[in-house]
Amino acid sequence: MALGRLLLVVLMLSLVSLPALALESVAPGEQGVALTDFPIEYFIDGSQTKDYETVRLESFDQTMSTTTLGTRAAVTWYRVSLHNSGSDDRSLFLHLPKAYHVRSIDIVEERSSRVVNRLSVNLNEADAHPAMYRGTLVYPFELQAGKTTVMYVRSHAYSHQWFSLKVYDDENSRRALAGGHLDIALMVGMMLALVFYNGLLYFATSKKENIYYSLYLISGLVWIALSYGLVAKAFNAYGDAVFVLNLSLITMPIFLLLFMMAIFETHEYFRTEHRVLQGMLALLVVTFVYGLFDIATALKPASSLAALMMVVTFSVSISLFRKGHPLVKFFLVGHTFFVVFNGFAVLYYKGLVQPNYINSHGVGIGIVLEALTLAFIISYRIKVLEDIRSKQDELKRQASTDPLTRLFNRRYFMAEGEYVLEQARTSGEPLSVIAIDIDHFKAVNDTHGHNVGDLVLVEVASVFRQFSRDRDLVARFGGEEFVILLPGADLTEGFGCAERIRNAVEAMVIDGGDGLAVRVTVSVGVAEVNPLLESVEGAVKRADRSLYEAKAGGRNRVCGFDGPAGKALPT
Ligand code: GH3
Ligand code: MG
Ligand code: MG
Repeated sequence: MALGRLLLVVLMLSLVSLPALALESVAPGEQGVALTDFPIEYFIDGSQTKDYETVRLESFDQTMSTTTLGTRAAVTWYRVSLHNSGSDDRSLFLHLPKAYHVRSIDIVEERSSRVVNRLSVNLNEADAHPAMYRGTLVYPFELQAGKTTVMYVRSHAYSHQWFSLKVYDDENSRRALAGGHLDIALMVGMMLALVFYNGLLYFATSKKENIYYSLYLISGLVWIALSYGLVAKAFNAYGDAVFVLNLSLITMPIFLLLFMMAIFETHEYFRTEHRVLQGMLALLVVTFVYGLFDIATALKPASSLAALMMVVTFSVSISLFRKGHPLVKFFLVGHTFFVVFNGFAVLYYKGLVQPNYINSHGVGIGIVLEALTLAFIISYRIKVLEDIRSKQDELKRQASTDPLTRLFNRRYFMAEGEYVLEQARTSGEPLSVIAIDIDHFKAVNDTHGHNVGDLVLVEVASVFRQFSRDRDLVARFGGEEFVILLPGADLTEGFGCAERIRNAVEAMVIDGGDGLAVRVTVSVGVAEVNPLLESVEGAVKRADRSLYEAKAGGRNRVCGFDGPAGKALPT
């Protein structure tokens, strides 16, 4: 907005042939000076030792006021010439918003080939420096009407020469310093929320991948906060002590590899891929340990390591994909996001493309997109595990029930019955068992056919279910024979239950189709179980003996051992 009434006029100065930026005079209270995007000049000092007097005679190349010159421009001089073409004297501020991530900045201000002011800031001691304001270096200067000033700025970077220069008047300077970093704070905040969530997931599931993912996120958010100036802005911290946080650039792939191993279960199922990942991990761990002592050197092979990392992660993923791993395709998508946006960033860092929001924030965007995809994989994995569990449950159910009546089968009854018996043993509660057999069932089959016989079995089974409680164990023992185990019921209660069932079956009319009404009766034997002296099998045998008595006594009746409850009978 402030650029509106400012003309950018390029003048050729007589002494040094460089373009001068003209500032048109504006009345107080109107739009001020805010120059954010204009051409400047640069000179790379490969020797890193040249001083201002030597450098000012070198030939400079042209670039823009926000620029990136890659890693081979650690020491770079920038030159900008400003001319006040108005009629008022101006108080102005030179801003270096990317000052937070360099080793040192030196500014030499020159008028008519004479040095009028100098400023040197060593970022190691900059936290209390009056020129440093939350990551931005602010250099105030006066520019009288009609005058020209030439600034030489020496920027000594740790690795990447990542530079930006702006010129403001008082009001715009304040505004520039107050704003910004909302996007970065959002990215970091989102990742922090995921860290907390995965911490909680870990407590719930104890799955290692939640911890690796959290540590990967922490590495990523530290690097984002560091590189995009949030650490400088929030903590006013710069220099070597903060530069060490770049170790996060090594820990991030370390935890990504550990995450891959955990979530794809490579150790258990994919030994070859596991070994490849382990090899890459070892290389990164060595680099990390080296970085603890000399982070600047450790970061030098960073781009080669990153390239190798991509080859490894992609080939392992594709190999797992071919083997049909259900989660890998999502990982490939997330990792592709990461690689593509990092690719944009690399072009930007190497100074091969004009900076824009996407490429200058490429690494951060890539990390966030990958992080979100990995979060999706974690939740999708829970779904996959759920599916496997419910399939297993279904298989278990099938193995334990009778397909026709859906009652438990004999095998399940015997196993579960022992458990119920054990419980009765410890609780001292009574326990009864009922044995049921349909009367003259063969005749039903012979008269109406097997299908009607089946229908009768189903209907009778539903009566058993209806007249038993949830904790009772109802099973089809075979053919037309059934048993029910009644926890908490003594002989009298077992008898009562048996009688209710017998009555209900007798009263039931089964619709056999084509107007056919089928009636059946059952004979029932009851026995109270003595948990201390017998097994389930023994108790069922005694109930069977009573059932035999009921058959012998004329069918459609309940018989039970009527001696003292809990007394053992010889079996
Ligand atoms: P009782 O009163 O003495 O028990 O006479 P019953 O005819 O019921 O006794 P039996 O044991 O002689 O006959 C049982 C019949 O049950 C024989 C068999 O055909 C029939 N059966 C066994 N399983 C099934 C089945 O799954 N479906 C059908 N429809 N019939 C079955
Ligand atoms: Mg029968
Ligand atoms: Mg029978």
